[in-house]
Amino acid sequence: MSKIRILPDNLANKIAAGEVVERPASIVKELLENAIDAGATRIDVVIVSGGRRSIRVTDNGEGMNRDDAILSFERHATSKIRTVEDLEAILTLGFRGEALASIASVSRARLRTQTAADLTGTEVEISGGKMYAVRDAATAPGTQIEINSLFFNVPARRKFLKSEATESFHITNLVTHYALAHPNLSFTLTNNGRETLSVVPATDLRERAYQIFGDVFLGDLIEVERSSDGMSVRGFVSSPSAARSNRDNQYFFVNRRYVKDRVIARALSEGFRAMMPSGTFPSAMLFLDVPPTEVDVNVHPAKTEVRFMRSAIVYDLIRDGVRAAIAGARAAATKFVEPERVVREPDVVKAVAVSPPDTVPEALQQHIDLSFRRTPEVVPQVISEVPVPVIVPLHEPAIARLGCLSSRGFDAAGNQLRPAQNLTLNADEISILGQIHSSFIAAADRSGVLVIDQHVAHERILFELHWNALRRKSVDVQRHLIPETFDLTPGQEAAFERLLPELEENGFELSRLSGRTVAVNGAPAMLEAGASRSLLKELLDSIETERKGLSLDELRAEIAAGLACRAAVKINMPLSEEKMRWLIDELMKMENPATCPHGRPIILRITMRELERAFQRI
Ligand code: ADP
Ligand code: MG
Repeated sequence: MSKIRILPDNLANKIAAGEVVERPASIVKELLENAIDAGATRIDVVIVSGGRRSIRVTDNGEGMNRDDAILSFERHATSKIRTVEDLEAILTLGFRGEALASIASVSRARLRTQTAADLTGTEVEISGGKMYAVRDAATAPGTQIEINSLFFNVPARRKFLKSEATESFHITNLVTHYALAHPNLSFTLTNNGRETLSVVPATDLRERAYQIFGDVFLGDLIEVERSSDGMSVRGFVSSPSAARSNRDNQYFFVNRRYVKDRVIARALSEGFRAMMPSGTFPSAMLFLDVPPTEVDVNVHPAKTEVRFMRSAIVYDLIRDGVRAAIAGARAAATKFVEPERVVREPDVVKAVAVSPPDTVPEALQQHIDLSFRRTPEVVPQVISEVPVPVIVPLHEPAIARLGCLSSRGFDAAGNQLRPAQNLTLNADEISILGQIHSSFIAAADRSGVLVIDQHVAHERILFELHWNALRRKSVDVQRHLIPETFDLTPGQEAAFERLLPELEENGFELSRLSGRTVAVNGAPAMLEAGASRSLLKELLDSIETERKGLSLDELRAEIAAGLACRAAVKINMPLSEEKMRWLIDELMKMENPATCPHGRPIILRITMRELERAFQRI
């Protein structure tokens, strides 16, 4: 029995009119929606050349008989609504009956379909809107639609298609989002012969997100879940610290339909209010479920806009859901990288001085007025304003080799300081005194006073962990739900080609889009969300300008050092005693605790002997 009817004029006229085929991704969207509406449990998408050359969507849904296969390409031909009343409570993704007609009018299309009840299937060929062939075909229950040569008969539109990479990117994004919106279905996406997405049925959104992005990624997002008044919102938002300058990374779904919506967008912003600088926006993926009678989807031809009957309730639900999620995440937040796996391999770490070593920080010279919280016996009661004459970095030979002995490596009389006299560091013996100007950790051990630069200490720890992971080829990668993009300058473009393999080794997943645009699909997990773009640009600039002659190993080390620097705690950041303890303990486990990956000293020691000398006790 046929299912498709041509809508009567009075009903057809009530349907938002307009063009739906804007680019290859809009075709994929319509075909995916048709497959989902047909009750498919498995949907395979195959594209060639960003969909410009060919798009093929295969499903195992209910299929069509011969009459329907022919009718499906007519305008206003649909099985999804019959009457004006049906428009008021739409349960399917499609309802306009125009997509196949529009698509077939600007391409060469081939449909193969079969219902479970029929013994043979049907194949229909249609080109530029003209049907050329209808024949029996041996096929399986379900539907396969292949769209070739998009816009072959509309050269003006063909010219405006973006590069293959850009179109692939849009399609990948789209299929990924539909896969997230329908966790119970299987999806695959094959791009130029390579399978780029493959998911089997999952029990819920979280499991589906895990299938696609992995757990490292999920750990960084805040899960939203709230319901009231017969409506519910679920999904993920980024943490308030990962601000973006536009709304490009906000994806909203209403009843599993991908939409652009101001009510949802404003409610999301309100949920984040006062937590983000003005002019910045969170990333979000929110799935709203409302009774079909509560939402009008017949607003826009591409069905990407909706109107809510009770928008105030929708607004409150989303704002409150987002607020509660952020509050929950804050409570659970921890700032530090946990000291989980420290694998020590001798001779693995190689520090490369990639920038001129800094001198001993100014702050140290002037501010020996340490804000001690307790005063162990090794520390004098009164601390003088007089510059401490002797400051000897530990592990002298390593530092000397890296050229880190600053002018302050000489005492007041101009004598070169002697290496710390075989003094070793032992984490168990170090007691923390306090933090100096929220930037340096003051500590003491048997030998005297230690001052540790918190930023470079953390940098060293992250560098060694990352370097070890590099060697084991087990860098933790965090996939981006929504890729960040940035544009290369012509100079950076050349550096990009050279650096790409090394960046990939280091945990970046990058792809070139059209022109000079790069998408960051994943980044080393240690980097905070949103930090990749500026780091990459900085690396590309420095490679381009000054470091053309670097060897591959040096390049790799420079990338690793840049990463560690970005990810490490900064100066001017108050640290709890617990965190300072963790830093010191981890630092002591490192291969080279004395200098940062950029060659700067990490620990300065003022020995008892030097203190005594300074106070003229000896
Ligand atoms: P709409 O989805 O708005 O009804 P379309 O032009 O997208 O309009 O599709 C027309 C009709 O063709 C649908 O109503 C449906 O009956 C049938 N159809 C399209 N794609 C499929 C498919 N993959 N499986 C089964 N039937 C389909
Ligand atoms: Mg449709």
